[in-house]
Amino acid sequence: MRKILSFILILFITISLINYIKKDTAPIYSNNLIPKEEMDTPLQTSITRTKRKDLGEIETIIEYGDYSSLAAHYPIFGIESIDSTIKDMVQGYINNFYREIENNTSNRKLKSELNIDFDMYITQDDIVSLKFSIMESMSYNAHPNTSIKTFVINLGKEEFISLDDIFKGEYLSMLSEIIINHFSDDEEYKEYIETDLFKEKLASAKENLDKFVVQENSIILFFEKYELFAGSFGEQEVEISYRDLKGYLKKELEDLVEEPSDSIVEENRTEKPKEIVEGETRIIDSEKPMVCLTFDDGPNEKTTIPILDTLKKHNSVGTFFVLGNRVSHNKEILERMIAEGSEVGNHTYNHKKLTSLSTKDVKWQIKSTQDAIDAIAISPKVMRPTYGAYDDTLKSTLDMPMILWSIDTLDWKYRDTNRVVKSILDNVTDGDIILMHDLYESTANAVEKVVPELIDRGFQLVTVSELYEARGKTLESGKTYNHVHKNR
Ligand code: ZN
Repeated sequence: MRKILSFILILFITISLINYIKKDTAPIYSNNLIPKEEMDTPLQTSITRTKRKDLGEIETIIEYGDYSSLAAHYPIFGIESIDSTIKDMVQGYINNFYREIENNTSNRKLKSELNIDFDMYITQDDIVSLKFSIMESMSYNAHPNTSIKTFVINLGKEEFISLDDIFKGEYLSMLSEIIINHFSDDEEYKEYIETDLFKEKLASAKENLDKFVVQENSIILFFEKYELFAGSFGEQEVEISYRDLKGYLKKELEDLVEEPSDSIVEENRTEKPKEIVEGETRIIDSEKPMVCLTFDDGPNEKTTIPILDTLKKHNSVGTFFVLGNRVSHNKEILERMIAEGSEVGNHTYNHKKLTSLSTKDVKWQIKSTQDAIDAIAISPKVMRPTYGAYDDTLKSTLDMPMILWSIDTLDWKYRDTNRVVKSILDNVTDGDIILMHDLYESTANAVEKVVPELIDRGFQLVTVSELYEARGKTLESGKTYNHVHKNR
């Protein structure tokens, strides 16, 4: 009896221990805000340079009109005072962008573009920093305008942090001095630090040093293009270790720096799912009519999941052209897409118009998105250019086929379920590729109505790659594809 009892006891302890370990190694940040008790447990990781996006939710606005292309991404933490400040900042740039277009009627043949994206830096003790990069490319200007905006937030206290909250004493002159030394030591910059531009901007003024993020062991200050040096130098960042700022740090940070930081562990890479559960098998009959439903700009929890539910209910699939910067927030959704037979395509990292970018930047947009998706399970084989914009340079740069469409539902413009349903059902023929966006509820509702009707009409819903394979056509890098209409 005693043996059995001790066996049960050991078993109990083992299970608790396993659960404890499991809890500790579970992905640290989910789509939603970290529950308080998890925040307080010291994390095993202490990484400098942790640019990430997976705390809070990510919201994306994408709009395009006759004269404009716009993509803006920003996080939502579920804290009203914080969220509204960030949203207001983003909205301010958007309003200003549209106002400028309205006021400048010249050179409207070219579209103006606004892109707002962010990097996130997270420390162990509830401090989240955001670095927004704002790129505004107006049709009447030769070069895009870039600017930086940062926020440092104490999530636990639900407040923004300023330099005054971190430093004490004559810290501004201390920071300026460190920055001057930083550039004096740099071969590339040292001959330019005597310029008026540089001197003026580092005159110990708080507003010149107000773009910064806070990391575990250091602070990074950012300077916009033209701020310190000539434009050709681009943006600068200066990272300063807290150790170099001793005596100027306020109490709490000072304590943090005192702690030995010997617990530096490699970033936890999420393991690829070992097993991908097969959905119900679909048999594609290449002789029968087929269409592709395609969804851009997601994934987005509120709308992508209902779309996947509808597809699953009807043993059907779609193709999702996702944004790289939304991937880490929506890992489970991507895993599900793949597990249920849908296709995941590349729709760039943050929705910049590719035809306005340098070759190097285009390659980065594609590769960083491939890497983000590949970390979950697969490497996409197809891409869709943002705003449907492409040219010969882009064609020769890309090493993936460009998938366009033959039916544009304009779902993003009207946000009207019935209009989307009608645009599909009135026009659909065998071999069509249908464009939608899984950012809108009206689109998810339209999918629910349209899928059973398409099946009733005898269409098979297939992925883009399946469509071309079934029709014996090879998708080639740098070429564009709109549909596979028969006999045309
Ligand atoms: Zn798009």
